[in-house]
Amino acid sequence: MRRLSLTLLSASLMLAIGTANAATQTTIPAAAVKTAEQLRDKAMNDNTAYEIVTSLTTEVGPRLAGGPADVRGREWAIAKFKALGFDKVYTEQVTYPLWERRSEHAEIVAPFPQPLDLIALGYSAGTPKGGLTAEVVRFDSLDALKKAAPASVKGKIVYVDAHMERHKDGHDYAIGSGVRVGGPVIAAKMGAAAFLLRSAGTDANSRTPHTGVTGFENPKDAIPAAALSNPDADQLTRILGYGKPVSVKLDLDCGFNGTYTGANVIGEVTGKKHPEQVVAIGGHLDSWDPGTGAIDDGAGVAIAMAAGKLIHDMPQRPDRTIRVIAFANEEMGLWGGRAYADKHAAEVAKFQLGTESDFGARKVWLMSASVKPEARGAIEQIAKVLAPIGVDYDATKPGGGGSDLSQMHGKGMAALTLVQDGTDYFDYHHTANDTLDKIDPKELAQNAAVYAAFSYMAAQADGDFGSKPGAFKNDGAEE
Ligand SMILES: [Zn+2]
Repeated sequence: MRRLSLTLLSASLMLAIGTANAATQTTIPAAAVKTAEQLRDKAMNDNTAYEIVTSLTTEVGPRLAGGPADVRGREWAIAKFKALGFDKVYTEQVTYPLWERRSEHAEIVAPFPQPLDLIALGYSAGTPKGGLTAEVVRFDSLDALKKAAPASVKGKIVYVDAHMERHKDGHDYAIGSGVRVGGPVIAAKMGAAAFLLRSAGTDANSRTPHTGVTGFENPKDAIPAAALSNPDADQLTRILGYGKPVSVKLDLDCGFNGTYTGANVIGEVTGKKHPEQVVAIGGHLDSWDPGTGAIDDGAGVAIAMAAGKLIHDMPQRPDRTIRVIAFANEEMGLWGGRAYADKHAAEVAKFQLGTESDFGARKVWLMSASVKPEARGAIEQIAKVLAPIGVDYDATKPGGGGSDLSQMHGKGMAALTLVQDGTDYFDYHHTANDTLDKIDPKELAQNAAVYAAFSYMAAQADGDFGSKPGAFKNDGAEE
């Protein structure tokens, strides 16, 4: 009897759980799937994203955070959101250390005097007036530098000569950015006079150095730090190969200069049913200064703005709000993304789903997601709509939300990762060659189609994707 009643009880319990499960599964209504397919097909032939990135890179140009074009970039974004018809346009302040680049020169003094092409790195200190001349000590990896005796680098110019190869997912950037961010800090702690690296780039034959940020957080810890173009790195390495002491003169005029307050610029298409619930997409408005920031990250801003505009132009508003965020100062350490996440952490449960585009302008080829188990089916529905335009779905990988929105994901926002083809991204990334001609309008339109379709489906879903404080803590996505 006892056993029987337990069996009956567990059977009825399972039935109850089964019913509850069906009721709590997040799904996207068939009508919304159909509309998303139409939106996708329209977006594939729409030029809005390309027009936006053309406007930004032409009318504003390079957009170093806190530089003279920072305010012009913000004004451009506000005006563009308004011109596109977004329902609500506003800004949220972001304060960060101001770093300025004024000039940079370098030359090999001995044994074979000649000029070197390089570029100072973000948060680099300047050299003393008149420059700094010291002997160069080379390491072929960051690990080799870490193992060096501090006495061997004290007062010298540390040079880390690590190579990057092209890959579709750009994974060698972990090597290059690791050297660029971590190397200067390690060298400074060991008493080095300055730091040089082979550019974190895959353009082996271009005499164009790649800038980017270092890990210096405190101006008083910073030493001069710069990137050599790949051919200049080859040359320096060849000269070191003669086995004679090699001395280099660096003349960098750059450095910290107080703080600056910029802003994230935000445009919304207001949801008609749940206006307080948002699908968050975006890109970052700032860029490095040598190029015009077309692939990094004018493209991302344009993709997200165009996706919002395509949804805005539909006969009816979506159920939830589409929020497009043009982030401030991503480049020097996710300042816009961190400020955004700090400000909005308490409302994380209202973020339906989000992701940012910040890996160039080539086609999206892979999607992954961090969502609650009950929303996997809805992600599969999204994947089905994206498959015909070349997007695979990897159900085993997490979704990280992209660069700035990784910070909201860290607070518990359900997130996608939409991976673009990054094979040639690091040829141009953070260089003077990051210009509009690197963008193929058709490939950019595919990105806008992906963002429009997924955003619309997420906005129309019956149910949520599991955003709540602290969710997805251990999903393996990078923050
Ligand atoms: Zn970027």
